Amino acid sequence: MRFIVILFFITALFGCNTSSLSKAYQSYTTAKQHYIQAILNNNKKQKINSLKEIVKCGSFLDFNVSKYKKELNNLGYKKYKYVSKKVIPIKNPLKLESKYIKVISYYPLKIKLNSKMKVKYFTLVRNKKYYKIFDIYNAKLNKKISKRISQNIDLLIAQNNKNKVRVVLSNENKFKIRYSTKNHYLSVKFFDKPISKYQKPTHITKVPLKQKIIVIDPGHGGKDPGGIGFYSIKEKNVVLKIGLYLRDILKKRGYKVYMTRDKDYFVTLPNRTKFANRYHANLFISLHCNIIRGKNKVHGPTTYFLSPARTERASRVAKYENSAIGNLHTTNQQIVLNFLNKDRIIQSDKMAMDIQRNIIYNLRKHYKDIYDRGVRPAPFWVLVGTQMPAILIETGFLTNKKEASRLNNSLYQKRLATGIADGIDSYFRKNK
Ligand SMILES: [Zn+2]
Repeated sequence: MRFIVILFFITALFGCNTSSLSKAYQSYTTAKQHYIQAILNNNKKQKINSLKEIVKCGSFLDFNVSKYKKELNNLGYKKYKYVSKKVIPIKNPLKLESKYIKVISYYPLKIKLNSKMKVKYFTLVRNKKYYKIFDIYNAKLNKKISKRISQNIDLLIAQNNKNKVRVVLSNENKFKIRYSTKNHYLSVKFFDKPISKYQKPTHITKVPLKQKIIVIDPGHGGKDPGGIGFYSIKEKNVVLKIGLYLRDILKKRGYKVYMTRDKDYFVTLPNRTKFANRYHANLFISLHCNIIRGKNKVHGPTTYFLSPARTERASRVAKYENSAIGNLHTTNQQIVLNFLNKDRIIQSDKMAMDIQRNIIYNLRKHYKDIYDRGVRPAPFWVLVGTQMPAILIETGFLTNKKEASRLNNSLYQKRLATGIADGIDSYFRKNK
């Protein structure tokens, strides 16, 4: 059995950076970002170019890109040809072949394959960890394997999809391997000491909180007062104060914190998200106050996470907060929303739940009548442009007399900010 995965061809043919999986993934997310920008700018040429990049990188990454291809065709671009990955098949098939791979040894790593299997190799650097990955196609796995196979290298073998088994070697530091796929074996040599009998294998170290970067986005500002409620309290002032308290609390707890505005000036929606992306934030929090005319009894905080789902209530709030985006056509909005990264939605949802729970818990310690409006999905534009988990907190209703005066009170603002900070802590403790 002798075959080579022709990675060079792919690199040469594709415009997207496919020198490693992490670079391709970077190009892919950047292209998606460009596409959203193109829709916001309503620029057809920019749309086509970014879609081409998405298709190129996405195909390389084995993502399903059919909807992007369809969108390209809708834009009148038909010339695009998808070049598939070339794999030279294994010769001299054995007569009796199992669909299942078999691990023969761990140090060095040796895995038995059959002649129908194909192997693709790539590397990846993510969250300061180094990965060497082998995808074995047309293969099955009996049971997931997860173990440390040398002093510093972790091994994970898992069924990646119906026909693909993924073998992942990872290390906190850069490491080298040598591999071959001769004679129906995938053999991987690595240059790391074996685990001694007396040494307990260490497991994934937690990323210290101080490495987490949070962007706080107090809504509105300057010429845009946001909602104006009882006692002429302005949303822009309330959310700025809560944001500043939140910044101080988070900084004390060791987070890196940036604010899209720390004074009373206007920031456009695209600039708010560009800001968050530039700092590679781990979390984006937009702060707002709610307004509901004619229903002055309605009160309580709500945490929204970005999602294409549209409930009537969410749409009402979103319409108001989205007004700064202005000229975007509704069908275009839906297209962008359908392209949202599912992973990010799930993370944002989890984060929203932790934060909402902690806001309510903290406030109820001091006030008996805090109403929990829960976590809701909503299509907020300020969240669409971000590349990290993003949530939007409607801290309360300025159209409710009692809540308006509370929201304007520094002690209440501090307690609210503490709740948000506790929620962030709780989320990061559970998710590395
Ligand atoms: Zn607002």
